[in-house]
Amino acid sequence: MVLNNHLFFLIHKPIHFLKTMSINSNHYSKNSFKKPLKLEKSLTFNSNGRVLFEGKSNIDNQDIVVIITGLDNKTSNKKTGDMLQTWILLKDHAPNTSHKDGLNKSVCGNCPHAGYNNNSCYVKWFQAPLQVWKSYKNNRYDYFKKSDLNLIKGRSLRLGSAGDPTVIPLSVWQPLLDVAKNHTGYTHQWRENFAQQYKGIVQASCDSFQDYLLASGLGFKCFYVKHKDTKVDKKLFINCPASIEAGQKTSCSICSLCSGSKKDVVINAHGSTAKYVAVEA
Ligand code: SF4
Repeated sequence: MVLNNHLFFLIHKPIHFLKTMSINSNHYSKNSFKKPLKLEKSLTFNSNGRVLFEGKSNIDNQDIVVIITGLDNKTSNKKTGDMLQTWILLKDHAPNTSHKDGLNKSVCGNCPHAGYNNNSCYVKWFQAPLQVWKSYKNNRYDYFKKSDLNLIKGRSLRLGSAGDPTVIPLSVWQPLLDVAKNHTGYTHQWRENFAQQYKGIVQASCDSFQDYLLASGLGFKCFYVKHKDTKVDKKLFINCPASIEAGQKTSCSICSLCSGSKKDVVINAHGSTAKYVAVEA
């Protein structure tokens, strides 16, 4: 059985059947597409998440999966606020070890913060991504169905809580973007051909003013992470209002400036990232 390309509900509905059969063929019925199925007597799907995509990475054709979580429970990240989270992970390799050994290139590409580069990523890959991946491997998530769009309506959506959102077809995200209240997203893949369709959808992650010039030239709105002592022309950027230097006035779920179409945003590097960011003239 070859599961090529993306298996999003609108295009590849039969995947639900395939998963159902692989779980327990006795459970298949005419109504399988409508109701979450019981896996075993005591084990049910985790209704807080769904499988949004299974297919090949735009980067290197490896098998990847995208899980959406937060459907039941509000999320509590102080900077982002309550947002639906999306986890872009290798299908068959644990995300924490893949972050270190380089396999995660399929979902993080040339990101300088990846564990195989500077290892300055803000994502704790051994925490939420690992938990989500384990749940996926244990068949705890049902597949996303068209009716699940009701769960997205009016919510804030984060494209790529881990992993780069451009490594899958934009058509997977689009139905969710159409009904969500707002969204944020970032890509370090903005130089790549496959990422160009994401202009106006995600911010280009920029680690220098030179990056900003290049990404702007390509037509992206930018998210520029700079050293705290690097001066920028305030007419070019808005300072992220959730940043420490701007007084942490709001959260992404309210602000949503990082939706790829509004402003070029700047923020000072903090935490483990800061030591890799040089002062620029
Ligand atoms: S500018 Fe707004 S959306 Fe972007 S990171 Fe800051 S608070 Fe979040």
